[in-house]
Amino acid sequence: MLDAAVHAALASAVGEDNIVSDPVGLRSYECDGLTGFRQVPGLVVLPLDTAGVAAAARVCHQHGVPFVARGAGTGLSGGALPVADGVVISLQRLRRVLEVDPVDRRAVLQPGVTNLDITKAAAPFGLYYAPDPSSQQVCTIGGNVAENSGGAHCLKYGFTTNHVLELTVVLPDGEVVTLGGDTAEQLGPDLRGVFIGSEGTLGIACEITVRLLRVPQTVRTLLADFPSVTEAGEVVSDIVAAGIVPAAVEMMDNLAIQAAEQAVGAGYTLETPAALVVELDGPAAECGEQFEQVKAICERHGCTRLHIAGDAAERAKIWKGRKAAFAAVGRISPDYIVQDGVVPRTRLAEVLGRIEDMGRAAGLRVANVFHAGDGNLHPLVLFDESAGELDRAEQLSKEIAELCVELGGSLSGEHGIGTDKACSMPTMFSRDDLATMDRVRSAFDPAGLCNPGKLLPTPRLCGEAPGRYRPHPLEEAGVIERL
Ligand SMILES: Cc1cc2nc3c(=O)[nH]c(=O)nc-3n(C[C@H](O)[C@H](O)[C@H](O)COP(=O)(O)OP(=O)(O)OC[C@H]3O[C@@H](n4cnc5c(N)ncnc54)[C@H](O)[C@@H]3O)c2cc1C
Repeated sequence: MLDAAVHAALASAVGEDNIVSDPVGLRSYECDGLTGFRQVPGLVVLPLDTAGVAAAARVCHQHGVPFVARGAGTGLSGGALPVADGVVISLQRLRRVLEVDPVDRRAVLQPGVTNLDITKAAAPFGLYYAPDPSSQQVCTIGGNVAENSGGAHCLKYGFTTNHVLELTVVLPDGEVVTLGGDTAEQLGPDLRGVFIGSEGTLGIACEITVRLLRVPQTVRTLLADFPSVTEAGEVVSDIVAAGIVPAAVEMMDNLAIQAAEQAVGAGYTLETPAALVVELDGPAAECGEQFEQVKAICERHGCTRLHIAGDAAERAKIWKGRKAAFAAVGRISPDYIVQDGVVPRTRLAEVLGRIEDMGRAAGLRVANVFHAGDGNLHPLVLFDESAGELDRAEQLSKEIAELCVELGGSLSGEHGIGTDKACSMPTMFSRDDLATMDRVRSAFDPAGLCNPGKLLPTPRLCGEAPGRYRPHPLEEAGVIERL
């Protein structure tokens, strides 16, 4: 329960109309896309502008109350999980595109603007915003900045950090600062770069200037089926070894294909063990020549069907299947965990084989749909909570992430560490590395109020029983109800 004095101070900072305090309303904010972790916040504020965000942060700072920034809540690592008796600062009401400058090719955005709305605003000028998370219809640019989000086309164009020039940030004590600048190269330490990917632990991004790219002259997309994920993995390595940088190379295994096909009818082959979506873009001549090379590589590796998108509608259909794949997995399993890890591209076939073995040993199915060009895996661990499989699924998911580190990769490619993987950070970073990160964080947030418990391991949380929500037996029996 939040102190009445804090509620009153927040109400005078942002207006009572922009506060959620009723128990049912607060429940909407209890988790993000990683629904296994839940915590109802003490209060939610929805400021209307940067000044409102700063005023809310100042109140929290003055009263020593922890707070968590929230965009659309699509995060998959528990980054926006509230803190008990803490405040959620939602950026949902800051959703204006402030400026599109077609000459300098940049846009200035409030943090609640959705990723896709940036491209919609840029489209009349023949421009677009390149990073394209599969959640782009709903996730916000503020969340993208916090997670350094990627997407299918980040293989060629880079992640969020490669496209953000300047940030107006509310620091954890309410001070407003500018990080980065209008030009790509800035003097001094790159604090803009430090902030991007810091998962809401260093402050709240309130104005974001991004680069826009010119829509490519030509786009060619193919869907290729393979007898196994090994052959598909070899195609990915050979494409890159040939010096081709595709706009995207995405892989799906049979389980993911079945789910996606059932959900959206994208024209995938239901029986195929593996499929690749390869997209090339750029000048027509270059694109055409490289496309022939890619086709030859696919054929060399036993491609069983090669479908080339004939027009924009067919291309959109292929992508619809890929982008809907996470959600579609709900059709073939009552519950699933989306894992996110990276391996060197050359070890894709090996890691997929080991994941299959681990799944078999755990008695669980694992579907794979991922950014193959980056080696960025998204194993989806399928389970049935009502059959008591949750703990096994969580354990398997954790072991898969740690396997990625063992193979020379990373705990996360784009979904972040959040609450979910904070305790695994020591498998990737030394004690000194973690202490250094903690000192950077303390420089921004000496009081430790901004999204505490996320990203970096805390001995208390990592040493004790995890704080996942488990229904009380009385709640399961319908005797009591959580509010
Ligand atoms: C179906 C599905 C597909 C997805 N596909 C992809 C994908 O392809 N690539 C990818 O990278 N991710 C993907 N994601 C994950 C997720 O969409 C991204 O991490 C996204 O950037 C989160 O944005 P959000 O607005 O939902 O942020 P939230 O979930 O609300 O918050 C995420 C983190 O950002 C912080 N935060 C939010 N706003 C701000 C701000 N203004 N300032 C500072 N911190 C802030 C929060 O505190 C939290 O730590 C997917 C998720 C789903 C559900």
